[in-house]
Amino acid sequence: MEELKQRILRDGKVRGNNEVLKVDSFLNHQMDVAFLQAIGQEFRERFAHCPIDRILTIEASGIGIACLSALAFDKIPVLFAKKNKTKNIAGDVYISQVESFTQGKRPYNIFVSKEFLRPGERVLLIDDFLANGSALSALIDIVHQAGAEVVGAGIVIEKAFQPGGDLIRSKGVRVESLARIKAMSEETGVVFCD
Ligand code: 5GP
Repeated sequence: MEELKQRILRDGKVRGNNEVLKVDSFLNHQMDVAFLQAIGQEFRERFAHCPIDRILTIEASGIGIACLSALAFDKIPVLFAKKNKTKNIAGDVYISQVESFTQGKRPYNIFVSKEFLRPGERVLLIDDFLANGSALSALIDIVHQAGAEVVGAGIVIEKAFQPGGDLIRSKGVRVESLARIKAMSEETGVVFCD
């Protein structure tokens, strides 16, 4: 998605030992909603003709992107995995574990209420980044626990120099990334795959 690549080149900042791309001026802290809408449209086009019952994402960064995408997909429901098992998600939940990429690789659990994910449903996964694939693997695990089906994964930015893309595709999941980064460093900036 050319517009996204230009935005990354303009506003993205490489940090964290050249492993973290900060895009918090438009994607995952301050949010450019009109731009997120265009991202949602792009996912809609890429997954056109795929029957989808539900979008599943993970809090917090995925939620805005998933909501704008849902509008593009004729208002299908958005479900997000929670990182804390609060009182209002007590009861029957699916649980899976994520190794945090941004928080020192400390593992944490994610939770989804069984009430909102049903056997046989066709689920599109959405997230902001794909790095090592741990967050997406946990979402796939939860969909499978529910007896539901993963239609594919819509990723805004795939860091293709990390193993997540290969890992998820090797599970047979279709991954559509709107920008794929081949390499990045504070000195040279971001280089895209294509
Ligand atoms: P993974 O589980 O694939 O290693 O990492 C995916 C999750 O880590 C995403 O949900 C995203 O929030 C976060 N993440 C991974 N890499 C980056 C990055 O370079 N920048 C930002 N802002 N978040 C990232």
